[in-house]
Amino acid sequence: MEVFLGLPAADGIGIGTAFVIPDKVKRAIPQHHINIDQINKGWTRFEAASQTVILNLNEKLDSLSKTNPKDMAQREIFETYVLMLEDPVFNKEVKDFYENELFNIEYTIQFKAQEYATKLQQAGNYYLSERAKDITDVFDLVLDEMLDIHPFDINSVPDGSVIFATSLSSADTIILSKRKIAALGLEEGGVSSHVVILARNYGIPTVTGLTEISKKVRTGETVIVDGKNAEILISPDRETIEEYKTKIRDEYKRRQTLKSFLNKPAVTKDGTLFKLYANIGTPEEAEIAASEGADGIGLFRTEFLYMAQNGASFNAAARSFSEQTQFEAYKYVLEIMGEKPVTIRTLDAGGDKLINSVDIPLLDEKNPLMGLRAVRLSLASPNVLKTQLKALYRAGLYGNLRIMFPLITSVDQVLKCLEIIKEVKDELKSSGIPFKEDVPVGIMIETAAAAVISDCLAKVSDFFSLGTNDLTQYTLGVDRENQHVASLYNEFNLAVLRLIQTTAHAASEANIPLSVCGEMAGRQDSIIVLGGMGIRDLSMSPKLICDTKELLSRFTIQELEAISSKHINDMWELQKTFRK
Ligand code: PEP
Ligand code: MG
Repeated sequence: MEVFLGLPAADGIGIGTAFVIPDKVKRAIPQHHINIDQINKGWTRFEAASQTVILNLNEKLDSLSKTNPKDMAQREIFETYVLMLEDPVFNKEVKDFYENELFNIEYTIQFKAQEYATKLQQAGNYYLSERAKDITDVFDLVLDEMLDIHPFDINSVPDGSVIFATSLSSADTIILSKRKIAALGLEEGGVSSHVVILARNYGIPTVTGLTEISKKVRTGETVIVDGKNAEILISPDRETIEEYKTKIRDEYKRRQTLKSFLNKPAVTKDGTLFKLYANIGTPEEAEIAASEGADGIGLFRTEFLYMAQNGASFNAAARSFSEQTQFEAYKYVLEIMGEKPVTIRTLDAGGDKLINSVDIPLLDEKNPLMGLRAVRLSLASPNVLKTQLKALYRAGLYGNLRIMFPLITSVDQVLKCLEIIKEVKDELKSSGIPFKEDVPVGIMIETAAAAVISDCLAKVSDFFSLGTNDLTQYTLGVDRENQHVASLYNEFNLAVLRLIQTTAHAASEANIPLSVCGEMAGRQDSIIVLGGMGIRDLSMSPKLICDTKELLSRFTIQELEAISSKHINDMWELQKTFRK
């Protein structure tokens, strides 16, 4: 048996068969000239590859239902692909270019597909620019076939697997969450990375920071992943397996006992009430939130909706995420939660959450976390924001909605968002579309800038939610996804805690609600510190709600305050020592 240590990411123990996901192969297209006598051979290869792709697409089409809405969207994509591959006009144009310019066939295909896509994009027409992405996607499939590159299809992972990978995209994690995955072991990804947040929400035991793990474990080996102790045990003996099975049974029993807290309010030993909300990324997670006794949804990360739509097979570009599809998703969550508040955050795309959508510019940014992400991206693509807001205001009629903007850094940004909200409401009104007029509009405090000017922001916001994941990342200048600096990613850093205090003070002065929705809100040590700082609203992975109720029931509010202020003072004392 071999044991590897990583970083604890999502609690729980998983036993299963290892499945190592291969790293993505980069498609490098050679470019060179050919002789006239090589023309036919190249063209035949292209035609054969094209036929194989058409065949594969038709097989996929046969397996998709003609009535299920999700399948229908996928069908539409594949049908468009087939039409494009069979288009005689485009094929003739490619052939003419190939015969005249005498470039190798792979380069010819890539060049002509890109040229065509660029023309469509420049037409400035929404429909045509959507087709542009299709062109490059479908010809990439042909190129993969010609170059014998077979991109890994995440759907092919067998149930019961323990997945090992260098990294996983959020989209892949969402797909995996729908399968019966025993555990995850990753090389990359910090404790607050989005992959880990999703794994935690779906209850998948996860360990990250496993250096070169894909080379150390082989598909088919039996493995145990212990999320809490960050251990990977490869080929354990029978005794060890039994030991861990007992641990799984004990944990199951503990969770059963915790169920006694399910329908009780979250109160401290002396009766101070806390509100515990759930963080979700897909509409279905609202069901988990409701079944875990959440007081509402504190954060619905809507960008995951776009990602979930993004079929991993064929790397198909997600379609424009329509107002109606979004409306249905928001309505679904609001109806499940009934009277309870549901805070839906506008698109927080960009940075580490890339979205493959025709509506959103795919930028080549040197420093994407500092780039056009979150509210900046929404303000730069007002039509995407307006579509989302229309869906939200319409869905508002079905529950207790609150709208929240991410990554705010100035009052001006909030005012711009409020202006767009006004336009959206005016448009809905003039079209006679019913919507909820009064929806509280709040912001995330997740940059040092927002925390420092939280007194000003409180004047234009109905509520605050502290995004401690980004707040820590940006305040300390530590990438939350980077395992090499994971030890520096410390939410208890005095700078972070002071910004939380500043924000809490501003919210209380302005008499607006404040919650915490970063991962701090769900961890036992930080819950104690936050509670002691006066924070009463916490939003976390739904699976942590009962644990948090049990934790709070063991302390009085004075005890929380004492622990919290001792903690902050100790750090302050420590810093003072080094000041002299
Ligand atoms: C945060 O930054 O703390 C937060 C809740 O938002 P996200 O994790 O989606 O960036
Ligand atoms: Mg954030």
